[in-house]
Parts: sequence; C-alpha cells; structure tokens
Amino acid sequence: MASNKKNNNYFTWFYLTIATLLIGIYMFGDGNTSATKQVNYSDLNSYIERGFVKEIVIYNDNEVEAYLYPDSAVNIFKSDAKKLGERPMVISEIMSQENFDNFLKEQQSTGRFNGTIRVEKKPELWNGFLINILPLIIFIGLWIFLMRKMSGGAQGGGGVFNVGKSQAKLFEKDKNDRITFKDVAGQEGAKQEVKEIVDFLRNPKKYTELGGKIPKGALLVGPPGTGKTLLAKAVAGEANVPFFSLSGSDFVEMFVGVGASRVRDLFRQAKEKAPCIIFIDEIDAVGRARGKNPAMGGNDERENTLNQLLTEMDGFGTNSGIIVMAATNRADILDKALLRAGRFDRQIHVDLPDLNERKAVFGVHLKPLKLDESVDVDLLARQTPGFSGADIANVCNEAALIAARQQKKAVDKQDFLDAVDRIVGGLEKKSKVMTNHEKETIALHEAGHATLSWFLEHANPLIKVTIVPRGRALGAAWYLPEERQITTKEQMLDEMCAILGGRAAEELFTGHISTGAMNDLERVTKQAYGMIAYAGMSDKLPNLCYYNNSEYSFQRPYSEKTAELIDNEVKELINKQYERAKKMLLEHKEGHAQLAKLLQENEVIFAEDVEKIFGKRPWTSRSEEIFDTTKEAATDSKTAEEVQPSPEENIKDENKQ
Ligand code: ADP
Ligand code: ZN
Repeated sequence: MASNKKNNNYFTWFYLTIATLLIGIYMFGDGNTSATKQVNYSDLNSYIERGFVKEIVIYNDNEVEAYLYPDSAVNIFKSDAKKLGERPMVISEIMSQENFDNFLKEQQSTGRFNGTIRVEKKPELWNGFLINILPLIIFIGLWIFLMRKMSGGAQGGGGVFNVGKSQAKLFEKDKNDRITFKDVAGQEGAKQEVKEIVDFLRNPKKYTELGGKIPKGALLVGPPGTGKTLLAKAVAGEANVPFFSLSGSDFVEMFVGVGASRVRDLFRQAKEKAPCIIFIDEIDAVGRARGKNPAMGGNDERENTLNQLLTEMDGFGTNSGIIVMAATNRADILDKALLRAGRFDRQIHVDLPDLNERKAVFGVHLKPLKLDESVDVDLLARQTPGFSGADIANVCNEAALIAARQQKKAVDKQDFLDAVDRIVGGLEKKSKVMTNHEKETIALHEAGHATLSWFLEHANPLIKVTIVPRGRALGAAWYLPEERQITTKEQMLDEMCAILGGRAAEELFTGHISTGAMNDLERVTKQAYGMIAYAGMSDKLPNLCYYNNSEYSFQRPYSEKTAELIDNEVKELINKQYERAKKMLLEHKEGHAQLAKLLQENEVIFAEDVEKIFGKRPWTSRSEEIFDTTKEAATDSKTAEEVQPSPEENIKDENKQ
C-alpha cells in the first residue's frame, strides 16, 4: 500500500537521525570545546617567535598542536576570550622533526618559548572508532532487524511502529485481470451459494430496503487447493469491489495486543473501501475453539484477537457493505462463537473435484497451453482422482515444462502423463491420491452403504454417494435425514446396519478389511453404547439409564459387573447387525457390484442411478411421504405398504432375541 511505503521512509529517516546524533555525542561529546584553527608552518613559526605559545605537542605523523596563551589567542582568533574555551590552539604540519627541534631549541635559547614540549603518538582514529562506535552500530542494527522481524518483515512492513497495522493485501477493483466465476471450474454448488453475496454487493439497497439481513460472513470449508481463495476473489471480481486478502496467521504475533490491533486496522481500512470483501485464509489460526481448560492458561493473545474479530463483525451493520469470507479445511475445530448467526453463519463446502469437475478444471488450465491433438481431457481427468484444482493447475504447468525441455512445438499426451506421474509421486505422502486398488476398495465400501440404505426400511434415504476423498473420510454418502424427535429401536438398528454395510462389503468382496471403516465403527460403537447404557434398549438391562450428566465425575454409576454386561451387550448388538448387513449384501450381490463399478467410473452416483439398478426403493421415508402426497396423492405410500412384509420379518427377528 502506498501509504505504508511512505511511512517506511519516514521511519528510515527517523532511525538515521537518531543514529547520527548518538554517534556525534559519542565522538565529540566529552572532547574539548576550545577553539582550534589550522594554520600553515610559517604562521606557526611566527606565533612561537612572538611568544604566543605555552605548550607544544608533536605527533609522530608530523602534526603539531600549539596551545596558546589566552591573551594571544584572543589576538589570533579575533574573538572573545570566553568563546575560546580553556585551551585554544592552532594545528599545523611540520616538514621534519629535526628541523623543528632545531627551531624550537633556538627559540628556547632566546627565551621566546619557554613552555613544555611533548612528543606523542597519534591516537589511531580507526581504532577508537572500532572500540567506541562499532558496538553501538551493531546494537542499533540488531534492534532494527528485530523490530522488522517482529512485524512480519517479509511484506516489507518495517519498524516497531507498523506492528499493529494489518498485513492485508489489497486487490483494487476495475483491474483488467479480474477473476470471475468463469475462472472457477466446477464447484457449482458453492458458486450458487455465493451468488447471493455478489448480488448484495452489487445492489445492497435492494436488500436493506426490504429490511432483509445479509450474511456478514461466509466460511469456505474444504481441503487446500480446491479454489477457496479463487472463489472469494471471483466474488469480488463479479461484484467489482475491492478485495482484502490475508492469512489468519498474520494476526498472530509475539507481542501482546498486536493481533487485536491488526484486526481493528483491517476493518478500519475496509470501511474506507466499502463495499468490499475481506478474505481471511486459514482462519483456524485465530479461530480455534477458545481454551476449554483454564488450568493450561490457553493462548490469551489468540483469544484476544478472536474476540476483537467477533466484536468487529458484530459492530458493522448489515448495510455497511463489508463481507468477510474465510477459508479453513477444518470447520469442526473453530470456536462456536464464530459460527453463530450474524458472523460466519453460512458454511460453503468446497470439495475436491469429481471426474466431471476435474474435466472442467483441466479446461480452464489447458486454455493457455499449445496442445497436440493427442491430448484427451477425458483421459486426463480419469488419471487424476483425488487431485485438487491446484494440483491440476500444477499438472498443466509441469506438462508444458516437460515439453519445453524436449524442444517440442506443442504439449502432447505423454507430457501430461509424465507430469501426472511426477506429481503423484510428490503428492502421495501428503495428500489423498488414490491408487486404482484403493479406489476399488472405497467404491465397494461406499456401494455397501448405498445398497443397505436402499433396502433398509428405516435407513435415511440416499441422495448421493461419492468416492472423492473429503476431510478425513475416504468417501462419503449424503442422506436426507428424517426430522424426528424420538427414535425407535428399529430405526437405530437399521441405521447401524447401514453404517456397518461399508466394512461388510469390504470383507465380503475384497477378502480384506481395512482402516477405511474406522469412522463408521466409531459411530456404531457410540450408538450401541448409547442404546444400551442410556436408552435402556437392551434385553438384559431393560429400562435403565446410566447417563451421568455431571461432567467432571469420573465414577461410573454402575458396578463392575454391569460394566461387563454392557460391554458384552454392545458387542453382541453390533455383531448381530454386522451379520445382518452381510446377509443383505449377499442377497443383493449383483446390484452392489454394478453400483461399485458405476462409482469407480463416475466417482459420484445419485439416488437415480441406484434406482436404475435396484428399481424403486421399497420404502418411502416419512419426509418423502409428506412431499409426495402434495404431488401425487396416495399412490406412493401405497407402494410402500405393498412391499413392506419381508424386511419387517427381519426386524421382528431382531426383536425376539
Ligand atoms: P485454496 O484457497 O482452496 O487453498 P486456491 O484458491 O488458492 O486454493 O487455488 C490455488 C490454485 O488452484 C488457483 O489459483 C487455481 O489456479 C487452481 N484452482 C483451484 N481450484 C480451481 C477451480 N475450481 N477452477 C480452476 N482453477 C482452480
Ligand atoms: Zn463407511
């Protein structure tokens, strides 16, 4: 920023002045302040001959200092005795010591000079300089260096006085290289969600006149390199407003209070430019949940910064036109206060691209390259499962470099395949790039969930399944959860069975079990414990609730024996559901295999695809029922009734034991 640069200049001058002053004081501060004057040799001789001189110092480099009697000095300097100081003198050069000695002897013998003569070694100026000044200079240098370091010198913001300034980079509007939604490939869902923000920034009146409240903040959640920054920039570009960009870690400093003051400064700058967008990357650096454990002391500085951020976000009205967008790949560790209404109340998921989206991202990044006809976007997208948008951009760039290295006229297919190999090699360790074998396993696993939830009466209806890795999970399935206040035992059992379907499918169809099911198992185990220890749903411990709501009590409210019983009941419950899952999967083996194959090819499948394989779902969930009756009267609930019998037997079976 221009103003920052100017400030830096001022501070440089400020430092220089201080340094010069200090050096000056050091060098001349305690020296004599008496009058001195350079004179030539003949003048010196005449002063001595006239008896003006009371003391002579001859230095080894032929310089002579002649100290004068006060009266004579007044004569020579033609000035007040007071101004001349205690030891006024003249300085001169002599031709040779010998001659000068002779001359002095002559003067002494004639009585014109009867003062003292000293011969001295000249103090070496450089030596004195080193001893006196150098430590000072080093000290000052070190100090300036430290100050710069502390205030994030990487961005050139120098000086302790800048430490509280925000480090945000500003992208002005009306630039030619504006980024728009065109530059963001795929991510249709996310784009749809931010469109409202664009609309608001373009035309805030439309909303505020109606009394509508506009989100002040949106949180972009997704793994690195998926285009979160790009999306935020595109929002600014579409709305043609300025864009402030900084990282959460820019707020974190070793000085107390600096983070909070930077937040204030950032919002002050933003208000001047409103309407505008503030983008905070990696907000978890400041936004992590505040210390729950008071004994640890926590990170007060980060807390202060976070509090200031919350205050600022509450402080600006919805019509002030500042929208804060933040990015993180872990929304779950953020402080709940950040996610409350009026702050980042909107979470927009930006996921790793699936096959078609990868094709689109390739489309964007292939455009500037000179391509051979052999390049096939379809193939490239297929070869890059688990790649983020940034990885794909990287592949395109790398391919161009490989081609250039071989003096090719255009980039061809082989260059791309080499680039993919190279990048996979680099990525394997740090991110979720899948081998074909892994992809198959994950497809079988997710197809297992999908199959079971299709055929289990109480399982939540499926919306979409993907094998694109997200967060900690390797694949994911979306369900339409039923809105319900109480849950029956049958519903819980069906849910557990569907969750276990992933592991069951792995065991049945790959012959191995893997760590891919860990999340599922954790959920099932917790649920089973809940059913038995809290909800009184076990036959051996009916109607008992051992829920203990005092947080800090570590004592179990039941005996060792009961604990053992609970453990056994949990094991039995889960085992039974697991067997049930395996049995059902075997019944629908062909369909499951088709589903897994489709998943492997397309990476995403939707409820319609499942319906094509298995036929219409034999069950309609309550929420779907309500939806259907408004449209097609009773036909659908009828089909549900017609097919009901068989799985109900299944559940009755459960209940008997
Ligand atoms: P994030 O902020 O999520 O870590 P970025 O927005 O910084 O990721 O993305 C880094 C780069 O990756 C972008 O500059 C762009 O070149 C490329 N990229 C990522 N996602 C996409 C996408 N959906 N479409 C086009 N390019 C993308
Ligand atoms: Zn699973």
